[in-house]
Amino acid sequence: MIVVKVGGSEGIDYDAFCADIAQLVKAGKQLIVVHGGSSQTNAVAEALGHPPQFVTSPSGYTSRLTDRKTLEIFEMVYCGKMNKMIVEKLQALGVNAVGLSGIDGGLWRGKRKSAIRVVENGRKRIIRNNFTGKVEAVNTDLLTMLLEGGYVPVLTPPAISYENEAINVDGDRAAGATAIALKANTLVILSNVPGVLKNFPDEESLITDVPSSQIDHVSEHYAEGRMRIKLLGSKEAIEGGVGRVILGDARQADCVSTALAGKGTTIS
Ligand code: ADP
Repeated sequence: MIVVKVGGSEGIDYDAFCADIAQLVKAGKQLIVVHGGSSQTNAVAEALGHPPQFVTSPSGYTSRLTDRKTLEIFEMVYCGKMNKMIVEKLQALGVNAVGLSGIDGGLWRGKRKSAIRVVENGRKRIIRNNFTGKVEAVNTDLLTMLLEGGYVPVLTPPAISYENEAINVDGDRAAGATAIALKANTLVILSNVPGVLKNFPDEESLITDVPSSQIDHVSEHYAEGRMRIKLLGSKEAIEGGVGRVILGDARQADCVSTALAGKGTTIS
């Protein structure tokens, strides 16, 4: 079982991604796709007059500030535009893909964090009415039923809280939780960079291997912003029993197979 997360940042080639997924499915691989949608969400939020806002936690992780209106825009793009685009492309390639958000069938369940601590200009403050959280439980029965029926699940945030509210969760960590729950041997996380770069944005400075004991060191010394969350998700996945995590590049043909062949940053 392989869980493949494809990001939502600029430059990702979704045609190439879907073509490669189709090829792997036809070769008999059992796959689950998880996707993002951040850059499109930012564009739609701007167009709707509710520009995106990002906050940084005291431990240095950045995330999207998610009030109810942001959550609705987020759903329009992630569950609507992005999810249906990927499912449509896979269907056209002969893959019986089924798109689901973490809300559907209570697929991704977690605790809502309605008040979050953030750091602004060096000062800490608390923001309320926030709709974010973290995936704590995965409905594996639903996924197993789909996989056994020959369907390829295409999953996207948001998740759902214990009080049945939609919550924005990080896609990389949700993919990690899914890989753990399904006892996947490999988690592939594709984005618009070749992997973790020692001197971001110098693409020649790729770190090819990170032993799990070094994840924190690499995160602290080389990763900024969103890459830190990918490394956190990778660490959680490895600690949860996933054999290896590969951070690879989704801007090229055969992006999934290339990553599976070990090109990118391999964490094990
Ligand atoms: P996606 O939305 O595709 O999942 P993200 O934007 O969340 O991707 O994360 C990837 C981004 O992480 C890169 O586009 C880059 O701007 C940033 N980044 C920060 N530090 C690094 C690093 N050391 N190596 C690679 N990328 C990094």
